[in-house]
Amino acid sequence: MKKPLVVITGASSGIGEAAALKFSQEGHPLLLLARRLDRMEALDLPDTLCRKLDVTDLQSFQTALEEAEDQYGPTDCLISNAGILRLGKADVQDPQEWQQMFNINVLGLMNGIHLVLAGMRQRRSGTLINISSVAGRKNYMNHAGYCGTKFAVHAISEGIREEVADDNVRVVTIAPGIVETEILDHTTCAEALQDYRDYKKEIGGGISSADTAEAIWYTYRQPQNVCIREVVLAPTRQQ
Ligand code: NDP
Repeated sequence: MKKPLVVITGASSGIGEAAALKFSQEGHPLLLLARRLDRMEALDLPDTLCRKLDVTDLQSFQTALEEAEDQYGPTDCLISNAGILRLGKADVQDPQEWQQMFNINVLGLMNGIHLVLAGMRQRRSGTLINISSVAGRKNYMNHAGYCGTKFAVHAISEGIREEVADDNVRVVTIAPGIVETEILDHTTCAEALQDYRDYKKEIGGGISSADTAEAIWYTYRQPQNVCIREVVLAPTRQQ
């Protein structure tokens, strides 16, 4: 039987890329979205549309979704994964970094949800999978802005889950600890970066994107009447 469309934001690297590989392997047609189109196209996955997108751009988001749904049918699962991490102390961190984090991690996530949710409610079926973090459950040094965005993702997920439960739509929050990806590449604060890297080394490194994608897949592959509300997975030695 033909499998339904899965949409993944931030599919050009890390967790999003690993999820794309996993869901494609399981036979789903995909819409992959991120700014680095070449990285998504290089995956060369079957039944997959790749579109260059900044998740903060609602209009382009809608256009890409319409194109994919024309081709593959309605979105059955949206994995809202696009996100950035900028570390620093509140008195020295450039406020633009907080703005970028909130725009992408929070408002970008809400854009996608806004666009697919009405259809899911109407069909009385669908799954929203939101990639938050353990930093959405507890604070870490130099993470005030980032934790703010991820606490928001947890709150938004659970708020929407309560709103749509009666329409048989599932909302899942995935909260990984340290995952080995490119996420640290853009942090500008050298001291915060060094602290993070030292801690990662001390605990024997992060978990893999592939292991994280397996957890995402596990939540999705349950029957529609089973909603795994939250998964927290982290390196065993991480606090
Ligand atoms: P990566 O940096 O490897 O991936 C981030 C992805 O987000 C990229 O594909 C990037 O694509 C995309 N992205 C960033 N900004 C935008 C934007 N404006 N519009 C569209 N796409 C965007 O990091 P991870 O895989 O680690 O991060 C994925 C998610 O996992 C994030 O939400 C992160 O907060 C979360 N997470 C990561 C953890 C970790 O330790 N790595 C731990 C817990 C949670 P491009 O630049 O091409 O647009």
